Amino acid sequence: MNERELLMIPGPVEFDPEVLRALGAKTVSHVAPEFIATFGRALKRLREVCLAPSAQPFVVAGSGTLAMEMAVANLVEPGERALVVNTGYFSDRMAMMLERYGAEVVQVRAAPGEAPEVGAVEAALAEGRFKVLTVTHVDTSTGVLAPVEALVRAAGKHGVLSVVDGVCATAGESFHQDAWGADVYLTASQKAVGVPPGLALLTVGPRAMAAWRTRRTPVRSVYADFAEWLPIMEAYEAGRPSYFATPPVNLVCALEVSLGQLLAEGMEARFARHRHMARAFRAGWSALGLKMLPVSASVTANTLSAVYYPDGVDAALLGRVREQGVVLAGGLHPELKARYFRVGHMNVVGPGDVLATVGAVERALAAAGHRTEPGAAVRAAQAVLLASDM
Ligand SMILES: *Cc1c(COP(=O)(O)O)cnc(C)c1O
Repeated sequence: MNERELLMIPGPVEFDPEVLRALGAKTVSHVAPEFIATFGRALKRLREVCLAPSAQPFVVAGSGTLAMEMAVANLVEPGERALVVNTGYFSDRMAMMLERYGAEVVQVRAAPGEAPEVGAVEAALAEGRFKVLTVTHVDTSTGVLAPVEALVRAAGKHGVLSVVDGVCATAGESFHQDAWGADVYLTASQKAVGVPPGLALLTVGPRAMAAWRTRRTPVRSVYADFAEWLPIMEAYEAGRPSYFATPPVNLVCALEVSLGQLLAEGMEARFARHRHMARAFRAGWSALGLKMLPVSASVTANTLSAVYYPDGVDAALLGRVREQGVVLAGGLHPELKARYFRVGHMNVVGPGDVLATVGAVERALAAAGHRTEPGAAVRAAQAVLLASDM
């Protein structure tokens, strides 16, 4: 392993050294007073990061997939209807989970690279009888940013709970959970939240908590059940020891550090930085003559780029980019995965990372026979970075 390699994939991402040091610190008891205080602060900070003062936060050992499963397991009962706004791979996963938990699933789909029209989703909602709507904030397989605010507001208008999968978006893409009326925002530690993999994170609003409390049937998973975790989260926040299943002590310590850094930057500043870096990347891709998978600027994510290989170039490009010191990811969408690559630009990403990555792709493309004017892509990205209008 080359420790100077730049990890530019859509999770895990580059992490701040102070966060990594918390992982390497001595592990304390999960009921030590100082750990209880740390966990309590992490929960309060998660609420602030999601701009969800009214929500109940949950921090549980697991990955983003567990966060998805916790939302489904707790909110949906067999026979209830769920509307999935489907933008790709992770929406498919959500639909599969909903079906496994007995929901009747209806999907509004878009072609890869597109987001469904809000009007089409509203028409489906108007048919009625849905318990939940799910939407993937940023679909990591296509780089598509869904019109989440409009979708969440539409669900609210129809009395339908909204579940937003923010695993590739939370703390990178603008999101105002309480102001928009989103009922559940779920994510994982290893993407824009800035902590190595291993934590499932959710902020669950009051309507969703009430829906869980008034269930007719028990939650079918013990580990995912809010009933097990709610007393634990409440105890940590209140400064009291409690136990259901051992928390990943060091990851929680790292989370508390990272969330502190996020809030010190400020959420609006952080969203703006992600937008600015994404614009610089887009300028670079365009100067290289590369086309992005999202069909328009309004549906293009700010947390990653999904970019088609040019003619005559294939996934072997990623090996050449790695030789240039930068790690990128291949395609993920089942229909297109051999035709594009993905670049994560989340968390600590800054101007130096943009220029290093665009430069590495330019050199790798040249080595693969796709020649452009040397430096043109770096210059285009730099011009955006120098423009002060974040
Ligand atoms: C990464 C991701 C997931 C899955 O998270 P894991 O931590 O890999 O389980 C779910 N949804 C989206 C949108 C993602 O980007």
